[in-house]
Formats: sequence, C-alpha cells, structure tokens
Amino acid sequence: MAKKLIGYGDFFCSNCGDRIEKGKKKCPACGVWYSEKKRYGTSSALGAGGIGWSDRIKDPRYKKYDRNYRRYSYIWVGALSIIIPTIMLATGDISLDKEGITVIAVIIGVLWLFCLAFLYRGRNKPDWDGQVVDKRIDNKTRRVKSGDDYIKENYVEYIVVFRLTDGSIKEVSYKDSQTRFDYFRIGDYVHFHGKKHLSAIEKYDKSQDEILFCIKCHQLNDARNNFCSRCGCPLLKGKPQK
Ligand SMILES: [Zn+2]
Ligand SMILES: [Zn+2]
Repeated sequence: MAKKLIGYGDFFCSNCGDRIEKGKKKCPACGVWYSEKKRYGTSSALGAGGIGWSDRIKDPRYKKYDRNYRRYSYIWVGALSIIIPTIMLATGDISLDKEGITVIAVIIGVLWLFCLAFLYRGRNKPDWDGQVVDKRIDNKTRRVKSGDDYIKENYVEYIVVFRLTDGSIKEVSYKDSQTRFDYFRIGDYVHFHGKKHLSAIEKYDKSQDEILFCIKCHQLNDARNNFCSRCGCPLLKGKPQK
C-alpha cells in the first residue's frame, strides 16, 4: 500500500522524508528530532535554502505523489458512488425503478466525470527562465451573490511580473496569497518547471528566505527542511552557503 497519505499536518520526517512514527521523538531512519524545539539545533533558517537550481527535480517521489493522490481520489469517489444512492434510496427520494436507476447512473457518471477531469487536467508546458522585474498589488472588485442580489466586493490581487529570456513579459497572479507574493523579490532569477506533474517556479537564490514552498502540495516549510513535512516530497534547495 502507498506509503504516503494525503492530508494535513506533519506526516513526514523533514530530514529524510520517511513517514513519521507516532509516539517516537526521534526519526528511526535518520536520527533527527521530530520536535520543533530540538529539531534544528542552533542552525539558522536563513541561508538554509541555499543558492542554485536544485538537482532533486527528477526525484521519483513527485510522480508517486500524483499516483497516490489519484488512488485516494478513486477511493473517495468510489465510496460516494455507493453512499449517495444509498441515502437517496433510504430517504425515499428515489426507488429502485427505471427512473431511480437512471438517476443513480447519472449521479455516478457525473461524479466520475468531474473526478477524472480534475485529476487529468493540465498539460506539459515549455520550461522558461526569467527574472522578476516588477511586483504590484491590484485592487479589484468582483460580483458576489448575496441572497438574490449581486453585490460588489473589493479584493486584492498580488501580481509578480517576470521578464523571460526571450524578452517577453509574464504576469503571474497569486490571488490572495501575500506570502507567495513576498517570496519573490525584484531581481530574482527564476526557472519555470512546466512538466504536468511538476508545475512550479523555482527561485535560483533561496538563501534569502526562511521558508520554502513544497512544489507538490504547496505547504509552507521551514527552509531547514529537506523534505515537505506534509507530503514527504523533496524540497527544492540549492547548495548551502557555508
Ligand atoms: Zn528522518
Ligand atoms: Zn508537500
């Protein structure tokens, strides 16, 4: 069975990526402390991300994450395909006649259609290199439904502007995420990984931040981590500076 679970919280050793063993204070695989206090000793988070492109981009765990994610999605949708019709039958909303069976078939069909469309969305895009040339915060309004009416709601959009090596400009919007926005600084060199299973913008110099984003589950990690504490995928880090 899959070693990884999809969920929230720390499930994986931040040093070696092994599953955390409940009740243990130290990782039995690599000997590192799980507890937040002792975990990093006196080492600083600043600089721990290192400088340079990470060579871990080919790690098989990224693909494995997708396989596991799909597996758990199938289990969930499979369960819903049984639970929903069962409830409808039990409450008398439908009965097992021709009409009822049609309704069940449609519901199950739609469930799986959405599931597969979601899991297999996206495609491989070309990689690109670039530099952060501008950042801006746009104040925008959107129409949201309030009762029977629509009302205007103000929101901010965080936009990072990249100039690609071919001279073109690319704007990436980090909708409501100021943390992501702050993560990029003007002048930063970046590489975009366009593989479908691994779509992420990697910063060349990661030594100026105390945080690292997991490129798979987007969990915010301490820069001293080597593996995402939530999903166990390797974190992209450069060479340490000392
Ligand atoms: Zn470990
Ligand atoms: Zn992760």
